[in-house]
Amino acid sequence: MIERNPTRAVPVGGVVVGGGHPVVVQSMCATPTREVEATATQAEALRQAGAGIVRIAVDSRKEVDALAEIRQRTTANLSVDLQESYRLAAPVAPHVDKVRYNPGHLWHHEKSRPVADKVAFLADVAGENDCAIRIGVNCGSVDPAYGDRFRDDPVGAMVASAAEHCELLDRVGFTRFVVSLKDSDPAKVIEGNRKFAERLPEVPLHLGVTEAGLPPEGIIKTRIAFEQLLSRGIGDTIRVSLTLPNPRKPEEVVAGHDILRDIANGRFRSVPEFPKDRLNIISCPSCSRVENEQFVELAEEVREITRYAERHAITIAVMGCRVNGPGETDDADLGLWCGPAFVNLKRGRKALGAFPYDRILDRLRAELDRLIATRTPDSVSASG
Ligand code: SF4
Repeated sequence: MIERNPTRAVPVGGVVVGGGHPVVVQSMCATPTREVEATATQAEALRQAGAGIVRIAVDSRKEVDALAEIRQRTTANLSVDLQESYRLAAPVAPHVDKVRYNPGHLWHHEKSRPVADKVAFLADVAGENDCAIRIGVNCGSVDPAYGDRFRDDPVGAMVASAAEHCELLDRVGFTRFVVSLKDSDPAKVIEGNRKFAERLPEVPLHLGVTEAGLPPEGIIKTRIAFEQLLSRGIGDTIRVSLTLPNPRKPEEVVAGHDILRDIANGRFRSVPEFPKDRLNIISCPSCSRVENEQFVELAEEVREITRYAERHAITIAVMGCRVNGPGETDDADLGLWCGPAFVNLKRGRKALGAFPYDRILDRLRAELDRLIATRTPDSVSASG
């Protein structure tokens, strides 16, 4: 038996996160939230696969209306994902059991309003509606104030930002919250969660490797992080974020339960070091914000056409939308993020333009060749 960290218990609808309760597996709908039938069906499919919590993204009033209908059609414990429009928490909260906000997005709107006020507002709304909160910090979208202060220490920035928000919630007497510290690099997820758990051991942790990518690589990356953390008693709820077409989305939940079962039975796969000297393709799991349904196919094609570069230490990020795409691709060598009709391409932080879906792969390949050539001066074209 693994001794779990002594976190406090946070009820989320019909499940309890932390406080020694079984680790809750969760997932997120990737259907457009406005498509009520499709989203309710997917929420039910995830629930039936074993998701204790199902998250849905809500970015507009129309999506709040859809959420109210979805609530009537599923018995899943629902969490909602807010981006910049933190005020949407008020109309959303009556329909859900948990509200997730990202400290890195709170400064976008009402810039003159102190962050502490915004957090107090969220705590009020959650308290009045019997909801929990998740403080969801992502390495790729950390609050710029922390990014500046911790310039060479992105994990330190993530931990400090999360700890500050715990303090803000504590200050207004709200303790029904969990925290997540995510990155696409399992090593950073391990480091961030260990540091946070040492600092605030009572706060339940939601574990995840964001943009882990396509299976099986995405499951391997996630397993590496979860084995290292859960075996040390860190982690109260998990999500395996995989790039999958909608009908296969429940595979995320199955993968989560498989990992938990193996760890509980002492079956640690030989935890593979995720090689740092190889091609690394990260891609988001997609959600309702995905801008074009060709996204999953695009991620698969990117993996196929770049196989020739597998011995190069290059990271390619493929993201589904403009909400997180521009920021979350910053640390990749080549980044793609989907718009409705075009795919945006970046080299590092430099934008290279937007290309139609039928031309982006050629352009990506040309950029990859160029990158390989600059790193290995003797090679003319690594793809030849
Ligand atoms: S990058 Fe966009 S589409 Fe992909 S999971 Fe994040 S918010 Fe959703």
